[in-house]
This record gives sequence, C-alpha cells and structure tokens, in this order.
Amino acid sequence: MYRTHDCGELRLVDVGREVTLAGWVQSLRKFGSISFVDLRDRYGITQLLLGEALNEKLALNPLGREFVIQATGIVSERSNKNQQIPTGEIEIKVGQFTILNKSATPPFTIQDDTDGGEDLRMKFRYLDLRRNTIKKNLELRYAVNRAARNYLGEHRFIEIETPFLIRSTPEGARDFVVPSRMNPGQFYALPQSPQTFKQLLMVSGYDRYYQVVKCFRDEDLRADRQPEFTQIDCEMSFVEQEDILSMFEGLIKFIFKEVKNIEYTVEVERMSWDDAMWNYGNDKPDIRFGMKIANIKSPLKRKGAQEAEGLLIGKAGFTIFDQAETVLAIAVPGGAAWTRKQFDAVTDWVKRPQIGMLGLVYIRFQEDGTIKSSVDKYYNEERLKSIAVFCNAKKGEAILLLAGREERTRKAISELRLWIGEQLGLRKPDEFKLLWVVDFPLFEYNAEDNRWLARHHPFTAPKPDQIPLMINNDPTIPDPEEFMQHPYADIKANAYDMVLNGNEIGGGSIRIYQRELQEKMFDALGMSREEANYKFGFLMSAFEYGAPPHGGIAFGFDRLCALLSGSESIRDFIAFPKNNSGRDVMLDAPSSIDRKQLDELSIEIKN
Ligand code: ASP
Repeated sequence: MYRTHDCGELRLVDVGREVTLAGWVQSLRKFGSISFVDLRDRYGITQLLLGEALNEKLALNPLGREFVIQATGIVSERSNKNQQIPTGEIEIKVGQFTILNKSATPPFTIQDDTDGGEDLRMKFRYLDLRRNTIKKNLELRYAVNRAARNYLGEHRFIEIETPFLIRSTPEGARDFVVPSRMNPGQFYALPQSPQTFKQLLMVSGYDRYYQVVKCFRDEDLRADRQPEFTQIDCEMSFVEQEDILSMFEGLIKFIFKEVKNIEYTVEVERMSWDDAMWNYGNDKPDIRFGMKIANIKSPLKRKGAQEAEGLLIGKAGFTIFDQAETVLAIAVPGGAAWTRKQFDAVTDWVKRPQIGMLGLVYIRFQEDGTIKSSVDKYYNEERLKSIAVFCNAKKGEAILLLAGREERTRKAISELRLWIGEQLGLRKPDEFKLLWVVDFPLFEYNAEDNRWLARHHPFTAPKPDQIPLMINNDPTIPDPEEFMQHPYADIKANAYDMVLNGNEIGGGSIRIYQRELQEKMFDALGMSREEANYKFGFLMSAFEYGAPPHGGIAFGFDRLCALLSGSESIRDFIAFPKNNSGRDVMLDAPSSIDRKQLDELSIEIKN
C-alpha cells in the first residue's frame, strides 16, 4: 500500500496514529540536525519532520523539489502551527521514507504565484497543472460538468454521441479537415458543432438530447478563443422559445447553486436585440452597471432619435456633429471632477486604431449645476444642459460624446462604456448578472458578396409571423448602400442568446423543420438548389419523414467555467489548451508528417 491517507486529510484528532503518505516534495528546509518537508498531493500539503536519525539516509539520498516520496511516521501536534492550511496543526514525525522517483529541477516554481511565464508553463503544462490555481479550475470545471449532467438527466435528457469525422459544409467559420486514406482525394471535416446531428436525432424521436462535446472551428484566434472547445449542446422537440428559455434558465441556475452556492432566484432579465444595440451598443450587454447609451443622433429606425437630434444638434456650427451620421453619449459618474489630463487619456483611448474614433467631446455637469464642455464655443449653456438632461446625466457626471459612422460609433461607445465601467470598478467579478437577448435579426448583410448570411445558422426559423416576409420577397439587394431598406433587414429570428456579465455563454434557436421552408432559407442565402441538396440533402430528406417542431441551445462550457470563477481566460480552464497561434507548444503540434504518410493519403505539399 503506497499510502494510508492523503496530504490534505490529517488533523489534531489523528495525533498518535501511524500513517503513510505519498506525494511530491513542495519544499525542503533544514534546521540544524532536523529537516522539514512540505509534502504535496492533489488534496493538500502536510509537513513532514525528518529527525536526526534520518540524517545519514538523507545525506546518501538527498531530496529535491518535486521528488516523489513515501513517508511513514506518527502524526504529532505542531508547536509552530500554521493556520493558513487545514493540516497546519499537525506534522508527521517520520520514521522512514523512500524516494519513489527523482525529479529534475522544475523550470518554474510550482506554487500559486509562479515565476513561470505563459510560454514556459504551456511547454511544461503537466507541471503547471500541479499548481493549486489550475487544479481548482479543473475541479470547478468538473463540478459544472456534473451539475449540468445531473440537471439534464433529471429532466429526461439523454446524452448521445455524434461523429467527429463528418462532411465539410463550411458556413461561418472554416472547417478543420482530415484526409481520408481509404478514399484518396477526399476529406472529412471536424464538426463546428453537432447541429445537424442533433436535429436528425429529433427526427428520430429522441426528444431531449444533450452532449458535452468538442467543437472545432478553424478561426483566427482572439485572446479568449480556442480552435477546439467544448459545448453543452442541447436539443428538444415539441417546444417553443418559451419552453427552451425556461428549461435552460433552470440549468444555469442549478449550476450556480451547485457550483457556487448562489441562489439565483430572480427571473433572468430579457432584452430584445434591438434594445441591446440601442442602449448598450452590442448584443451581449454587461448589465451589472448602467451608463446606458444616449442616442442623440442615429440613422437607426427608432423612436426618439430624430427628436433628440432636432433638439440638440444642428445649426450650431459644430460641423463634426452636424455632419456625423451618428452621435452617441454616455454619462460617467464622478466624471465632472476629472482633470483635463484624464479627459485627454480617454480621448487617446478612443483614438486607438482598435476603436477608431477621431476624437471625443465632453460635457461636465458640475456639482453646482453649472456646465463646462469642450464645445462651449458652439453650444450655449442652455443647449448643453438640454443635452445633459437628454443623457439622463446627474450632477457630478461627465457626458462623453462620440460622433461618426453608425456602426463604428456604436461599437466604439460600447467599448468605451465597458472600459470606463472597468476603470470605475463597476464590473465586479463576483457579481453575476444573467440576461436573455432575444429577437435577433434572422439575416446579416454581407457587403463583400452583397448577399445575406444567416446570423445564427441556416437552420434557425424566422418568427412565425415573419415567414411571409421571407418567402414573398426576393433576396436580391439592388443597391448595397440601401441594404437597410430591404425587407430582410427587419426579419426577426426565433433565436436567443444567454449572456453572463457581458459575455455570450450560450445561444440557440427554434429550428426550421419543413423541407419547403428550409429550401426557401437556402434560396435567401443565395445557395442554389443543387448546392443546398449537395450540402444538406440528408437533412432536407429527413424533414420529409415526419420531423417534429424542435429547437435547442448550446452553452460554451469553457467560457462558462471561466466566468463562474471571475476569470476572462478560458485557457486556464482547459487542461491542455492551445496558444494564440493554435499551437500546442508542449506537443509542438501541428507538425509536418513524413513522406510515407503523405503518400498513403495521396497528398502533395505545394511548397
Ligand atoms: N449549434 C449552435 C452553435 O454552435 C447552437 C445551437 O443553435 O444550438 O452556435
């Protein structure tokens, strides 16, 4: 037997017992003739005391960091107690020890705040994983996984695996492809998600499906993306949007309770996509704080915009506002007291290429009720006050205004709001605010090809009352400048996203389940009938054999885990992640393969 107990287990009540522990040497300290070893395993750290009698053995068999040892001895009360760790009141007076394996000196220290840089830690990920912080993350990940399975199992979902080697049908992201040796010149693709399979399972009658499943997308990687990631993928039959929202709101609340012991009892707020864009400038608003956008001028067809514009802008001679397509503002608490330097810093921030604004206008609504601004030349106090009132600004706040093209300005103000929220400490990592964003547009305009793309995916159903809009209108866009006027721009989808603290954690839709409508959808996306049949013939055939109404959702499992821990980085929640260039630096993958393998696959490398 290698051990009688683990390294996190022993307490004062165990004093006097003879025990055997096994683990890694975290640290080693010598005091005169005695040595202390902190012995670590997955469960904790226990102090070993190696007395004088073992000195000779120690001299012959010196211990080092990360050596694996086994030690037998008597649990004793410590004179110098460590209240920081659960085993801190005891130590083991070791009678004998055995070195089970030596260790080379680790390339970085294996402790919470390690000296190892990211690259080094990834190269030696198996050592990095010994660190407590990462271990906690993986434990949390497992807790989320187990909670999800329990909830779904309780609600009669069953997990069904779907294949990884499938057919390439790129829509959205690029597919990863795998050459087939047995079918020279042909390729499988790795699934971007099990979307079509879960729909087929609904046709087969498995009316509540789920799968904790890997998905593969060959995208350029932003900081928090991975080429392979995990979804909690779900689908249900005989459901409407409301059924899905309530089932999966339940799932997330259950996970909160099980994993974080948080009772999220209030109903999850809902917001239309239009409102999210209008008030927050993006489709996954962080509603932990206010600072909503004041829409002073905008071409979007919303009530109130034109009214504000007439009231506030124009005829003042400030051409930047007069000529801008869009003018948007936020009111920032405490901003009235900012120094010139602080405003300059914010101005520099919005001028960075990633944000792309030409400048920033500010209005200080001072505590004494007076107004100061960077555009005093153009606007009198009364006019500035009415801007402040329109922006719902309170005394002591500063109004920050951005102007420019609609899309860019809205994105910029949205980023600015988040950045300022961060600076002001309004985005607290331990506060959790869920939100359903609903009523997404069905289509998204693609300027490059002057055509419509499916905003979610092509299997998403339009809102039932909007189906005629889709099938009775020609998808062609005669004038790209006027795409907003095309009836398709207004069609809403039966689609929804779940948002947590400004991050999309899940998304799904009610699906199309009739062949005719699915064909119309492919028409709308500019796909010929031949192409549609070639790519998705199997699904449309299935729809001819009694497909039930169905819908579903998928949660980004890695991201959900990161957010539950108040972290933004999904990499810390994946045992063996890839870096920003999609490389596994530990395996050094991807790699070239040898000639023989290439020949077997009938593949010639171009250069
Ligand atoms: N398959 C979709 C996705 O990966 C989710 C869904 O519609 O259920 O985004």
